[in-house]
Formats: sequence, C-alpha cells, structure tokens
Amino acid sequence: MYPAPFEYYAPNTIAEALSLLSQHGADAKVIAGSQSLVPLMKFRLATPAHVIDLRKVPNLTGIREEGGALVIGALTTHRTIERSETLRKKLPILPEAASAIGDPQVRNQGTIGGSLAHADPSADWPAVTTALDATVTVAGRGGERTLKISDLIVGPLTNSLNVDEILVSVRIPIPGAKSGSAYEKEPHPASRFAIVGVAAALQLDGKGVVQQARVAVTGLGSKVTRAGYVEQALTGKAPDPAALKAAAARTAEGIEVRGDNLGSAAYKTHLASVIAERALRRAAARAVER
Ligand SMILES: Cc1cc2nc3c(=O)[nH]c(=O)nc-3n(C[C@H](O)[C@H](O)[C@H](O)COP(=O)(O)OP(=O)(O)OC[C@H]3O[C@@H](n4cnc5c(N)ncnc54)[C@H](O)[C@@H]3O)c2cc1C
Repeated sequence: MYPAPFEYYAPNTIAEALSLLSQHGADAKVIAGSQSLVPLMKFRLATPAHVIDLRKVPNLTGIREEGGALVIGALTTHRTIERSETLRKKLPILPEAASAIGDPQVRNQGTIGGSLAHADPSADWPAVTTALDATVTVAGRGGERTLKISDLIVGPLTNSLNVDEILVSVRIPIPGAKSGSAYEKEPHPASRFAIVGVAAALQLDGKGVVQQARVAVTGLGSKVTRAGYVEQALTGKAPDPAALKAAAARTAEGIEVRGDNLGSAAYKTHLASVIAERALRRAAARAVER
C-alpha cells in the first residue's frame, strides 16, 4: 500500500509553512505525527499533492504555564504529555488520558494538535479538552485567532480550519481549589480507540456542592458532545454516589448515538452511563481532595 505521489516540504518557520499552505491551498496537507494522515494516504482516502511537515517548525512543541493556563504546543506528543510532571501536578487528567492512547509507537509520534485537527469521533483529546473548557490558537497569514473546541471540531473527521491555517497550541485554564477532573474509556481491544470515553470536570463550592459540571463524551455521536443532561442533573447537588449514578444514567440523552462495528446504539448507550459514573466518581474524589 503506497500513497499517491506527492511533493514533500519541511519548512523551518511558521511563516514558510503558512506561505506553502496558501500557495497550494486545498491540494496541500500539513503533517505532524503522521499517525492518522499516513494511513489515510496509504488507503488513498487522502491524496494531497503537497505534504508540509511541521516537525522542524520551532515553538510548536512543549508545555508551559501562562496567565493561569497550561499552554501545550500543537506538536507536543501524547508521550510528552503522559510524562509531564507539571501536568501530573496541575491537571492529572491530561497524563492519564495520554497514557490511554493507542500503543507506545502511536504515543511517541502522535500529537495533541494532530488529534484535535483530525477530529476522529472516537478520539480521546476532543472529549478531555472540551470538558476542560480548552481553546486552540490557530495561525493564518492574517495573524492568530482563538477557537473553542466545539467551534474547531464540526463533524466526523472535519474541522473548521481554513485550508491555509495551522493549529499552533492548546490552552487549558488551570482550575482552582475544589475542582477535579477525570477521564475514563472503554478501549477497543486492538486500536485502543474509545468505544465510549467520558471526560468529567467538576467545580465544587465551599459547601461541597457542584457549582459547575462539564462532561464530554467521545465515541457516541458523530463528534465529541457535551452530556448536557448530566451536567444539569449534577449542578446544585452534593456529588454523592447516588447523585453521580443518577446523573450518569442520562449520559446519552440528547445525543444521536451511532451504532457501529464496535457496538449497537443500545450497547453504547448503556456503556456510556457506566463509563460516565466512573469518571464522575474520580472527578468528585479529586475535587473534594483539592
Ligand atoms: C494504531 C493506532 C491507534 C490509535 N489509538 C488512538 C487512541 O486510542 N485514542 C486516540 O485519541 N487516538 C488514537 N490514534 C490516533 C493518534 O492519536 C493520532 O496521533 C492522532 O489522531 C493524529 O495526530 P498526528 O499528530 O499523528 O496527526 P497527523 O496524522 O500528522 O495528521 C492528522 C490530520 O491533522 C492535520 N494536522 C495535524 N497537525 C496539524 C496542525 N498543527 N494544524 C492543522 N492541522 C493539523 C493533518 O493535516 C491531518 O489532516 C491511534 C492511531 C493509530 C495509528
């Protein structure tokens, strides 16, 4: 299986990469970790005439703290996130989610920006970043703009980037005291992609009552979706086991669940409530401790 012929470019600056993109428009694709694009090219489901490798462009990798947020470069690998001590301390959900992606090869090569841009409906980062209220910074020839994840991921394998734009970083607000988040998934036994994955982030008030809940689900619908009924059910309640279970039972409500070769819609609906309860329990325990 060989891809269709293409021209390969390895620009050394972001300006050079953006100039190549605007020159070649829809005939070009950027490549980051190559874990999703190369298989698509080998199956000829993607046949870009020009492939622009971002790996030599400086400042697209790394994790830094800035103005109350964690900023992760788009080309930061899953493995770097998995191993980050800063993230372990500030937002353990991130290394936890990274460690559940694929296998060591995929984690060593694949990037958080590539995963978000690729917008696979079963991918992990879309759910985790949505629950954490993250935004992405996107560079184009006219400058930079900021997008919420819900505005970036618009459908299965579809993002809202213009053909001459590059995702440069992901910005995640660092939550304050009495907050906790956790990610749980049921992985496909071969690829480790989520059959269903749930990211839950809870903010408690001084009395230990849920002030805000953000719960995002991957694998159920055609793209990452907030579980609005779970969020509503929990807000204003103490996160005790009964409340968490009752809320989790509503995970698939309002979501058009797609059955596929991994499971029927009924199976996935049930699985979602089980996985959500696990994620909510761990998020609540972390919030109480913090
Ligand atoms: C065997 C296997 C198992 C996997 N298991 C999982 C899993 O369990 N969970 C999971 O979430 N994912 C999984 N993946 C996917 C993996 O996480 C990929 O790394 C990820 O989807 C794509 O990231 P990448 O850096 O490899 O992107 P690439 O393959 O290089 O690119 C993917 C797409 O994103 C675009 N793109 C990449 N970077 C940018 C950027 N900075 N700006 C704009 N567009 C960009 C490319 O043009 C392309 O369209 C698996 C993949 C494989 C092969």
